[in-house]
Amino acid sequence: MFELSGVSKTYGPVAALRPLDLGVRAGTTTVLIGPSGCGKSTVLRLMNGLVTPDTGSVRFAGTPLDTSNASMLRRRMGYVIQEGGLFPHLTAAANVTLMSRHVGWSRERSMARLADMCEMTRFPADGLTRYPAQLSGGQRQRVSLMRALMLDPDALLLDEPLGALDPMVRYDLQGELHDIFRTLGKTVVLVTHDLSEAAFFGDDIVLMRDGAIEQRGEMDDLLVRPASGFVERFVRAQRGLSNPAESRS
Ligand code: ADP
Ligand code: MG
Repeated sequence: MFELSGVSKTYGPVAALRPLDLGVRAGTTTVLIGPSGCGKSTVLRLMNGLVTPDTGSVRFAGTPLDTSNASMLRRRMGYVIQEGGLFPHLTAAANVTLMSRHVGWSRERSMARLADMCEMTRFPADGLTRYPAQLSGGQRQRVSLMRALMLDPDALLLDEPLGALDPMVRYDLQGELHDIFRTLGKTVVLVTHDLSEAAFFGDDIVLMRDGAIEQRGEMDDLLVRPASGFVERFVRAQRGLSNPAESRS
């Protein structure tokens, strides 16, 4: 579904990504994980053409992304950013149906799809007329997810979609997202900095460091066969966070 070949990106003196290769198979969930600033968000933005690589190429479903086709191809990719990225001056319903109206769906079709989305994401229908500021954090993320799913995209790109939520809301939404991914069979690329979340979602985990891929594999590979001292430290630090008693033993 995605094929990144030799992509790199520099911002001034900062190498956000070194030349990097990454393929994502259709129908799988791939998790990008790594410390803040390692390039995870940049990888997602390259995948949906919001950022153009300095070197290398990005293919989506076999088509090379370029500035002329990126906005068309982006309709086939749902994208959720950490803060949700909702328009504050639009109601939840208007946020979700923004793209469908833009591409010319009838009002009936948009409303029918919206009702389905509410059911799937368990968003209360009476929240649809509210503005983002009038919704809880969990509800806002459900709206962002509905918006990303609205056009029934082939792929979903989720950049720390649960990062800003309190632990219990996050726990519930993790479970629901997991069910949604499985039901829909979409290609999902999810960014997180949380190892347990990566394990929960990922068939395939890509651990990044300083703009490069440090290790790719299943969670077991990272735990049992760490590719480097960095992987070992990353895993140990996360375990320490999730279970302080364990890290001391
Ligand atoms: P992550 O999502 O893993 O935290 P990012 O992909 O956002 O990392 O960023 C990787 C590096 O590139 C960081 O050093 C960041 O500061 C830098 N960077 C990302 N986007 C920009 C930008 N638009 N302008 C300047 N620097 C950027
Ligand atoms: Mg990021």
